[in-house]
Amino acid sequence: MPDKNLWQAVLAQIELDLTPAKFATWFKSTKAQKEGKKIVISVPNSFVKEWLEGKYSEKIKKIVRSLDEEIRRIEFNIDKDLVTRVDPSPPERDDRQETLEVFKKDQNTGLNKNYTFNNFVVGGFNELAHAAALAVAEEPGSRYNPLFLYGRVGLGKTHLLQAIGNRVVKDNPRLKIRYIASENFTSDIILAIRNGTISSLKDKFRQIDILVIDDIQFIAGKEKTQEEFFHIFNSLYQKNKQIILSSDRPPKSISSLAKRLRSRFEGGMTADIGYPDLETRMAILKTKSQERGSDLPDDVCEYLAQNIETNIRELEGALNRIIFFKKVRTEDPDLEKIKELVSDFTVGRQEKLTPEKILEGVSDYYNIDKGKIISSSRKKEIVKPRQVAMFLMRRELESSYPAIGKEMGGRDHTTAMYSCNKIEDNLEKDDNLKKDISVIKVKFLSV
Ligand code: ADP
Ligand code: MG
Repeated sequence: MPDKNLWQAVLAQIELDLTPAKFATWFKSTKAQKEGKKIVISVPNSFVKEWLEGKYSEKIKKIVRSLDEEIRRIEFNIDKDLVTRVDPSPPERDDRQETLEVFKKDQNTGLNKNYTFNNFVVGGFNELAHAAALAVAEEPGSRYNPLFLYGRVGLGKTHLLQAIGNRVVKDNPRLKIRYIASENFTSDIILAIRNGTISSLKDKFRQIDILVIDDIQFIAGKEKTQEEFFHIFNSLYQKNKQIILSSDRPPKSISSLAKRLRSRFEGGMTADIGYPDLETRMAILKTKSQERGSDLPDDVCEYLAQNIETNIRELEGALNRIIFFKKVRTEDPDLEKIKELVSDFTVGRQEKLTPEKILEGVSDYYNIDKGKIISSSRKKEIVKPRQVAMFLMRRELESSYPAIGKEMGGRDHTTAMYSCNKIEDNLEKDDNLKKDISVIKVKFLSV
């Protein structure tokens, strides 16, 4: 394989794991050359060199070797000419540029056209979030305001947020929509405060019809940003403008979030996204592979879906790796090769956490019999571990309240809900409880 193609294939895979900004910073102006059994990666300066060596060499090595087994080592080399290549004269157009373009976002809206409702697979785990997103896309501002979607990383929050945006752009092109990641929102605010332009920035936000802020949990602890956001929020809300937020946890679990913001977030529609089941994971793989014009055989689909369970982004990363292999090698990898190609997505994973394991962990930690924990005893020293177990099932597994109740000796879902809320509230004021829970998590559940 020519060196250029090899390096492009490596970059395209790395790109999947990084934010566009990070990718641009660290990888965009790199080159690589094969020299015997090693690959020499040229970078623009020593800063990039150290960073890549420290953080990425293992990953790069792995990907390179999956594409070219001959390579044994990687080396970094500083090439000062590289800096000027990026700017002012843009790099020559090549495949890599094209890949970058696919991921490019629209400058006005911040939206990426590739995320739509059409290519979003719906299953029990995201049904509610999907329905709410669709309703908001159809009638922005009037039904669910704000819409607050939450769920663990890589499970489709950004995709849904973007899908709403893209639908609105299509159906209501006159509406002004803005998608922004909360880190960018925060830095815009901080910069504007520093430059004395905060009121004009706020005016700009106030003219938006649909404001989408992704990963809002990152404004936790940032008081100034929260304050400005509160004003923007109120002003939009009063004018029936739609606000859409996502977070990796529900509003009340975002610590250091001003109470008034929390209650705003809770005041509209909140919907969670859980983990997809096996069938849905297979369906997602099928959709994604067809989208890329590279249908996977059933056994491969099944292997991936069975072994990558908790993160759709990783599922997609594994799929991409296979597709690239097929592209650069022009041969279909067999299942053994596939296992090797995607091993870093599948190996070293801890055994899957289950409600049973949580109960066991809690029982070990407090040294109280499992049977006692799920019994109907009201003794204080038993009630607390019981509530902690329920809380952990909710927090770590995102189990529904009825499911938790059932797991805990057939209790009512209201009891489960009460227990989870109780622990959640106590966590804020009780440092011992906080310690208990973190020890249980680390020692007994390894999460
Ligand atoms: P999050 O923002 O929750 O971390 P993303 O929205 O970035 O997750 O999703 C990660 C990847 O998985 C994206 O490429 C996205 O397209 C894909 N994905 C997530 N959920 C679905 C789904 N239900 N159907 C199809 N693709 C999905
Ligand atoms: Mg996201």
